[in-house]
Amino acid sequence: MTEFGEAIREHLNSASHLSRRHIHPRLLQMFELAGLDAVFTRAEGPHLWDSEGVRYLDLLAGGGVYFTGRNHPDIHGALIDVLGMDLPNLSIVNASPLGGLLAERLLGLAEGRFAKVVFANSGSESNEVALRFARQCTGRRRFLYLDGAFHGRSYGAISVCGFPEMRERAEPMLPTCTPIRINDLAALRRELRYGDVAALIVEPVQGMTGIALERGFLREAENLCNQHGSLLIMDEVQTGLGRTGSWFSSLDQGVRPHMMTLSKTLSGGAVPVAAVLVADDVYERVYGKFGSGLVYFSTFAENNLAMVAGLATLDVLEALDAPAESARKGKLLRDALVDVASRCDVIERIEGRGLMQTVYFRNSDTPVLAAQQALMGAADSSAFAASVHVEMFREQKVITQIPGPGVNGLKVLPPVVTEDSELLSFASALESTLSRFTDVRSGPVASLGKGVARSAAKGVREVLAAAPFDLPDAARFLEKKTF
Ligand code: PLP
Repeated sequence: MTEFGEAIREHLNSASHLSRRHIHPRLLQMFELAGLDAVFTRAEGPHLWDSEGVRYLDLLAGGGVYFTGRNHPDIHGALIDVLGMDLPNLSIVNASPLGGLLAERLLGLAEGRFAKVVFANSGSESNEVALRFARQCTGRRRFLYLDGAFHGRSYGAISVCGFPEMRERAEPMLPTCTPIRINDLAALRRELRYGDVAALIVEPVQGMTGIALERGFLREAENLCNQHGSLLIMDEVQTGLGRTGSWFSSLDQGVRPHMMTLSKTLSGGAVPVAAVLVADDVYERVYGKFGSGLVYFSTFAENNLAMVAGLATLDVLEALDAPAESARKGKLLRDALVDVASRCDVIERIEGRGLMQTVYFRNSDTPVLAAQQALMGAADSSAFAASVHVEMFREQKVITQIPGPGVNGLKVLPPVVTEDSELLSFASALESTLSRFTDVRSGPVASLGKGVARSAAKGVREVLAAAPFDLPDAARFLEKKTF
């Protein structure tokens, strides 16, 4: 290992300490208060290991970027190869040596629906590009989006997010963005009839609610958009490239959007990359005028490492037959969760498609548990899900996710390389967590409380170990410190 590599290895144990000091102390503190305080030092496939060698099953997968699993050797190998080639890169006045290859592969996978690819650096940015193209293409201003939608955190993207909490203290947003209810065709028809809508933007399965839109809604949305001269933007940033059991969830359902955005899986988790697939007529309308070549440009978008990460990831996905594997494993997982739901009355329903599944909770019929849920729900509608999430992390060593603000559900995005037995073990870990919760001593309130207490105790130990003062001094110091 090089000196540089050794220095990084030595740093791993102090990473959270430095991050707390220099990056985002409040966020780390929030996780640690809940007991999510492992220090991860190694990763492979669907697993992370903490500094004590304990293995975690990672079903959060970096928010979906690790669909091929963490640290995939073929993706790393391709990156090392290209670094050794001394290729031209970011020359600006010339074609990207590798962008064309990746674009050709993506257009091929998308069944000929699109003619051009615009690369970007993140999911948010790809949606910004699509929104802007829609205005430039139609000469209209308004956008429609769905309740519960998530399209990113940059200004345009957040303006079409269906969670008002995400806009707090950030107003004013992009003007002229109108929410409509999920699957509400009457509302969509009404809004499109005004004739001022540039585009409707949708995710086939919503990342922050886990809900799969009805096929009938998506197909009729396409018809209505075409009828009224509006564009349909399909945000497949999270669903695209196999996650939901097909290469693209929307195309698989027979929907033909005007633009489709991709990111997450395409990166192989190695280098950020995003793409907007654009239909021919949209490209012509945006770039029709001579001199419009720089309507969109981003310095790093077609950088060699991002393009190679994309190409190598597509190779891995094809070799794994990822869409088919995702469909098969997704069914196995869903069936197992439905089976658990038949024995656990706190599970209301399972939402999702392929390897993107969300378990929604409701209040139990068991009085002891129901009382705790009512108490927690009064504070925060996702508090029960948070307690399950924490317990799964701490006791079962499984990493899951609360998908969106106030959502009382637990979402998983298993890498496609997760073994069948591991998916089944997740379902039984969930069942055993939910069963333990019926006992007041190990219920959800105690679980969250334990996290806070444990974290506070750890804080005290750290202060005592690090501080050059005696106990009375430490007590005075702690009085001023919030954990
Ligand atoms: N769109 C969807 C559907 C997403 O799930 C996400 C991220 O979670 C984004 C857009 C934003 O992507 P990024 O975080 O790369 O900007």
